[in-house]
Amino acid sequence: MTEERQENPKKPSPESVNQKKSGRRYNRPSQLDLSVVIPLLNEKDSLPELAEEIKAVCSRMNIRWEVWFIDDGSTDGSFDILRKLHRQDGRFKVIRFRRNYGKSAALAAGFKQARGKFVVTMDADLQDDPEEIPALLDKLEEGYDLVSGWKKKRYDPITKTIPSKFFNFVTGVLTGIRIHDFNCGLKAYRRDVVKAVNVYGELHRYVPVLAKMAGFTVTEKVVQHHPRKYGKTKFGLSRFLKGFLDLVTVLFTSRYTQRPLHLFGTIGIIFVVLGLGINAYLTYMWIMGYPISNRPLLFLGILLIMVGFQLISTGLLAEMITKSQFNQHHVSTREILK
Ligand code: UDP
Ligand code: MG
Repeated sequence: MTEERQENPKKPSPESVNQKKSGRRYNRPSQLDLSVVIPLLNEKDSLPELAEEIKAVCSRMNIRWEVWFIDDGSTDGSFDILRKLHRQDGRFKVIRFRRNYGKSAALAAGFKQARGKFVVTMDADLQDDPEEIPALLDKLEEGYDLVSGWKKKRYDPITKTIPSKFFNFVTGVLTGIRIHDFNCGLKAYRRDVVKAVNVYGELHRYVPVLAKMAGFTVTEKVVQHHPRKYGKTKFGLSRFLKGFLDLVTVLFTSRYTQRPLHLFGTIGIIFVVLGLGINAYLTYMWIMGYPISNRPLLFLGILLIMVGFQLISTGLLAEMITKSQFNQHHVSTREILK
């Protein structure tokens, strides 16, 4: 390898001077054009090929780039390969976790480091194709903040593709974001997006949702997908159950973190009113001389009132927690002119 190391971001590289001439908008010398973020767990066989392909694509685009490999606790020697890549070309950068923290944590670590104007995430298993990067960036240039890949023709076992269709459909309906493939590893972002979203737990599936909730524009683009060449998948079927629980978290935290009582209180009040209505009716019956102790409805009325009050007090507790934690409003600011 004869590529020179590009460590000093202050010094304009010959590449960036060329870009000025060619009129591309990638011309701020203090900033890279592209950061590629790649989370990986035990993918040693794929890494050299992947690195080579990314490098080829970026050279062709004539941009200033970096790749962040996040080794999420691999035990198969992936890190040794990454160290070698880094030594050969300093634009390949590596973060190594002490243990496996999951794909979301790996993405978050990469997002924190990314210096590019644009950020592309992709899986390390060669299922995502680096050749798609230019087209994704073009879409960002059109003005979108996030472009999510859509594996229209997918090379995965049917046990994965069918639940995944269902998952995408439900997520689309519940969030109002009409894209076909939320969980595609291949996505492109403006840097603002990755600095604004907080990806933790297993929320990587919902980055488009988190971005949309923060006010960014989201679109999708059909991308090539390949069968897994080496190694095996890291996610079993349990992902779907967990995925839906995570969806509840995302919906709840994005809509109600500021005002939890709006959710709990609304349901609570509905319950209490229903319960009071039922019991008022039974009281009337009792006054009229009918026996009510044998009516199952009585228990429903009592239950609704009790549960309703419990929900209201849960909401109030949540409000107290919110109040002490968020001293200032968490808003996503686009610009400040002063
Ligand atoms: N991955 C990771 N940490 C994990 C699990 C997976 O960094 O705990 C990486 C994995 O190495 C791959 C990407 O996340 O680069 C997607 O995983 P995989 O290909 O197993 O998912 P699938 O394609 O089966 O959905
Ligand atoms: Mg894969």
